[in-house]
Amino acid sequence: MPGSPRLSIAICGAGPAGLACALALGRAGHTITIFEQFDEAKPVGSGLILQPTGLAVLDWLGLGVRMRALGARIDRLHGTAAGRTVLDVRYAALGDARGLAVHRAGLFNVLHDAVLAAGIIPVTNRKIVGLEKGQLHFESGDRQGPFDLVIDAMGSRSLLLPLASAPQSRRALAYGAIWASLPWQADGFDPHALEQRYRNASQMCGVLPIGRMREGEEAQAAFFWSLKHQDYEAWRERGLERWKEDVLQLWPETVPLLASIKSENQMTLARYEHRTLPLPFGTGLVFVGDSAHSTSPQLGQGANMALLDCHALTQALATHQTIPEAVAAYAAARRWHVRLFQAMSFMFTPFYQSDSLLLPFVRDRVVAHLSRLPPAQRFLATLVSGRLGLKPLV
Ligand SMILES: Cc1cc2nc3c(=O)[nH]c(=O)nc-3n(C[C@H](O)[C@H](O)[C@H](O)COP(=O)(O)OP(=O)(O)OC[C@H]3O[C@@H](n4cnc5c(N)ncnc54)[C@H](O)[C@@H]3O)c2cc1C
Repeated sequence: MPGSPRLSIAICGAGPAGLACALALGRAGHTITIFEQFDEAKPVGSGLILQPTGLAVLDWLGLGVRMRALGARIDRLHGTAAGRTVLDVRYAALGDARGLAVHRAGLFNVLHDAVLAAGIIPVTNRKIVGLEKGQLHFESGDRQGPFDLVIDAMGSRSLLLPLASAPQSRRALAYGAIWASLPWQADGFDPHALEQRYRNASQMCGVLPIGRMREGEEAQAAFFWSLKHQDYEAWRERGLERWKEDVLQLWPETVPLLASIKSENQMTLARYEHRTLPLPFGTGLVFVGDSAHSTSPQLGQGANMALLDCHALTQALATHQTIPEAVAAYAAARRWHVRLFQAMSFMFTPFYQSDSLLLPFVRDRVVAHLSRLPPAQRFLATLVSGRLGLKPLV
């Protein structure tokens, strides 16, 4: 089918969504300019799990081999509360499929290096504050454009969200987490699992092997602790040592990991919010990744959804003559998968992060037993893999 003619495309944001779109659409022959607010394009945060869905998109981009060499293969998600297994999802229920835990910087480096190799140099130190008639407005006061199409990949706090055809207000979630990347400790931790410990739903600690940022560097672990945003200042004031006592009470084996945390500043606070744009486009504008849909990372889908958005948008632009037709086709292609996972994430999050006593009780007594049944194991693996409700990419 004939695609849109060669377009001049502005990509706002150099996160996973923006970089993947730049690479795919640059290869499709469009003229790409990436704008990023940071002085230097760089990743923020610790680690994440690439699911079979996201890995399939990286394979489509020709980046899967390098990414797998940097990341850590994940076979299992395992969580316990008071010594009882309450989460046990095994990818093996799906055959050969596995997750891949990566350092955010590892994913960034793989995408960014490929973008540079394709001759696209992100324009940095450009904070986008508005868009009018295809022209981007920057905080510095100047403008650039017009562009045929603007892709908003600026994440959950994008300032262009009010320009969506049907904007939606965000719902901030009370719980976030403090995160750090630490040297990997082989003793006591499974190198192929996300491991978590819970007390009710108000305390959660996790350890995830995330591999390397670049070839030859040391392997790392993502370490996280659930925290309400409103309690962050109190957490800092209380001091590191008293917090470490809480962590050790929940998970004594974390001693070697905690030893490498010497300052509160090593722990970054991540805030979560829940929002799904019903129509992820506006005039000459399309939203991908967290700007189109953001949620808590309980199901570990965000970066994978961003990569799936990139694939769907590239296909839509390749098979539709006009931009309005293409962005509507992109939205339709992603609609049900996005809605399903946003709903699932919204439903599951309070079982793991909330003040409820009832939900963790149900999780520990009922869900834990049900999830051992083979059909439930397969369902949970399909859910976590991101494949639920999704047609294979190729
Ligand atoms: C703690 C935590 C754990 C997570 N774990 C997982 C996981 O296991 N699996 C998973 O798939 N996902 C996970 N996620 C979600 C995942 O990180 C996001 O879904 C993903 O990063 C979204 O990519 P994005 O490119 O859409 O947005 P972002 O990664 O937010 O990138 C947005 C980019 O836009 C730039 N930008 C923002 N505003 C402007 C502006 N005004 N002007 C110019 N540039 C701008 C930013 O600097 C940034 O570079 C997790 C998220 C968090 C916070």
